[in-house]
Amino acid sequence: MSEELRKRRFQAIVFHTFILVLSIIVVIILTLLNLRLGEDTGEAPNLMPFQIFILIIAFYSAMEVWRYYKIRIPEMSLVEVLKCNKCGYVEKRRPQKGDFVFKKVGECPKCGGVIFIESIYKEVKARKSER
Ligand SMILES: [Zn+2]
Repeated sequence: MSEELRKRRFQAIVFHTFILVLSIIVVIILTLLNLRLGEDTGEAPNLMPFQIFILIIAFYSAMEVWRYYKIRIPEMSLVEVLKCNKCGYVEKRRPQKGDFVFKKVGECPKCGGVIFIESIYKEVKARKSER
């Protein structure tokens, strides 16, 4: 599930970065065009409203990029707790295929007792800042 969110976040960042770059290019082209037309005719057309409008779009896109960039998607991973029924020795590992709670998985390295799966749960790995 977090994989899907990560993908959407990436797409949003790419999309808004594209809009940002595109609008900056358009503003530069308009500015150059304005200068060139001014040189040729001595009277430059007023492109200021367009430039301002496009700059607003650029600004909005930059804000969106920043907003999406700040979102931290917590990374989930499955954890399995193995426990010895004699001495209470505990070990954590990634669940393997076919694992279930109370399944016996081997011998205790400490006392030779039976080790079984005590629990399987989801753990949040990296969680820096959320909006
Ligand atoms: Zn033990």
